[in-house]
Amino acid sequence: MATGKQRQNMLARFIRLRLWWLRARPINDLLLSSLSNRIAMRIGVKPFKNIKESDAPFYNALVFGITCRTVVVTSALRNLPADYIEAVLLHEYAHCKFRHSIKMTLIAVALLSIIVGTTIYILQFVETLTDMILLISMFVAVYIIIQITLRYIARRYELEADLFAVSNASNPCSYLRLLILLSQGEKNSRDVVSTLLSAHPPAITRIETIKTSFPHLAKCLE
Ligand SMILES: [Zn+2]
Repeated sequence: MATGKQRQNMLARFIRLRLWWLRARPINDLLLSSLSNRIAMRIGVKPFKNIKESDAPFYNALVFGITCRTVVVTSALRNLPADYIEAVLLHEYAHCKFRHSIKMTLIAVALLSIIVGTTIYILQFVETLTDMILLISMFVAVYIIIQITLRYIARRYELEADLFAVSNASNPCSYLRLLILLSQGEKNSRDVVSTLLSAHPPAITRIETIKTSFPHLAKCLE
């Protein structure tokens, strides 16, 4: 049984790893802004209006919201060479280019509306406690299936963003090397639940997908 202190530590760890972007602050980094603007112009998207930094020891970045106006990067990421930072920004811009957030939001709203609507409809035929338990179980089961479906789509979007970013990178080898760096911080294998519920494919899968689409890049890893 976890003590109060341990529970606090677990919560702090969870926030650090999953909600790292919450404690982001705006930064005024001219080099980063100009790199971001150049990439946006190159691939034909609106540049990020706000660039924020979150103090975290791992490499990560995230675009906020469906309008793609704000990007948050970790402090560790900012210390990487410029071509690695370009790789990350390209990946985030690719999500904007393909409107992944908008698509994902629409799919989530549609699926949740169907499940809530169906549940409300069935509710009028519920007469006994057993009916109610059955209905709730069905709701939970369908909700879990929807979550697994959404995460699967998110993983497909990650691979799509990777392929677009690699094909537009000034140094595609750096993109692959960055993924190698990310793979070093990941577990060797994921359990079934983590695999199904993760919104990101393992870095090693991302590398293999890039190598399949761009076989000539295999030389980058030699
Ligand atoms: Zn991504």
